Amino acid sequence: MTGDDPRRSIPRTDVLLGLPEVLDARDRLGEIRIRGIIHDVQARARRGELAPSAVGSEVVAAVRGESASSLGAVLNATGVIVHTNLGRAPLSDTAVAAVVEASGYVDVELDLASGKRSTRGVGVREALVRACPAAGDALVVNNGAAALMLACTAFAAGREVVISRGEMIEIGAGFRLTDLIVSTGVRLREVGTTNRTHLRDYADAFSPAGLSPGAGLPSGAGQYDPRSVEYHVGAILKVHPSNFRVQGFTASAGLSELRDLAHQYGVPLIVDLGSGLLHHDWALPDEPDATSALEAGADVVIASGDKLLGGPQAGILLGDKDVIARLATHPLARAVRTDKLTLAALEATLTGPQPPVTRYLHVDPERVKQRTERLAGELGVPIVECDGRVGGGGAPGVRLPGWALRLPVSVAGPLRTGDPAVLARVHADACLVDLRCIPERDDERLLTALRAQIPAS
Ligand SMILES: *Cc1c(COP(=O)(O)O)cnc(C)c1O
Repeated sequence: MTGDDPRRSIPRTDVLLGLPEVLDARDRLGEIRIRGIIHDVQARARRGELAPSAVGSEVVAAVRGESASSLGAVLNATGVIVHTNLGRAPLSDTAVAAVVEASGYVDVELDLASGKRSTRGVGVREALVRACPAAGDALVVNNGAAALMLACTAFAAGREVVISRGEMIEIGAGFRLTDLIVSTGVRLREVGTTNRTHLRDYADAFSPAGLSPGAGLPSGAGQYDPRSVEYHVGAILKVHPSNFRVQGFTASAGLSELRDLAHQYGVPLIVDLGSGLLHHDWALPDEPDATSALEAGADVVIASGDKLLGGPQAGILLGDKDVIARLATHPLARAVRTDKLTLAALEATLTGPQPPVTRYLHVDPERVKQRTERLAGELGVPIVECDGRVGGGGAPGVRLPGWALRLPVSVAGPLRTGDPAVLARVHADACLVDLRCIPERDDERLLTALRAQIPAS
């Protein structure tokens, strides 16, 4: 640096830390974060990207726009209700309040009356059983994948899980349920074909001819003895293809016949629903639900907390008391235990008012049309019919009638990076803004964001 190098006039860190706006932000963001921001801005000035005289105001602007976490709120204008990339289910106000309450010290494992230790998660278990009386008990773990891992390990470690080839699914980001199952030390026993799997295919997995190579013959002729070493099947697993559909020449075995087969050999029938509906929903006629699956004979039902249930990320296991007790006391249960924030949010979702996911699913298309027309009038843009989707959470192929603003495709990018960030749907060379999954209280914020990108007409 020479004596008149302008970089010498870059404000020093202690000077910037002393700016009133920076002092204010220190309580909110913390010292480490604030220093990081200051150093970044100073570095930009050193590289000549910023005038030294602008460093102070840039730091102030940066701390103002900064939040404590790198996650930022997005207005979901895609019409996709359970949007995996946007964190799946938005929580209800009631669930948010419960999370805030639970964020301090709470009686999560303490009985205040006796002062003794209590069982964790009793409230949410009771709420699940009240919401789904077909289950005698429930267990909540980290997510659906953890629930599947726990069930397979507890019932079939070192043995086989029988699964139809039509149900070996990839759930997203390259993760395959079958890889997950195999990683637990369980062997997969694939039966049937992609489009058709019959009861007899499952039955073959239990027959001598269906034994794995080298397994030897069963004790006693013809009939298996579940206690013999040659007995290889630990469970039958039925997985709901929650993100795709096979249409046409298809067949699959029903739950009650699979239950009869499983029980004949003394093994459980595990049903992975994926979605998380506890009861049948008229808006999703083909989507399976936990109550129906348990009534049809499932021993364990696995569901997700943040798909159609509309709550926090969680894996839910439902079944009778014995089955759940076996899962809850398995050592692995401790490794997939949920935190208190999840327990609080899930219980509030189950007992409180309808969560956003349920409301968006049953939204009145006329109401969406009114709101869309109003914004269209303000902006001078057309509206078009636009179907919403359930999304990665289930019900593939179901179209939910609705409406959207039709904007030039070129605004989609600027909307994403605007404030507030808006994710619209790009389709057929247009940017479609669907209000289905936007709370009505955010309509004005959405309008402001759109106005910034749409030239006044
Ligand atoms: C989504 C899904 C899972 C995984 O659930 P997560 O809560 O995402 O871990 C498992 N099985 C099926 C059928 C699913 O659709």
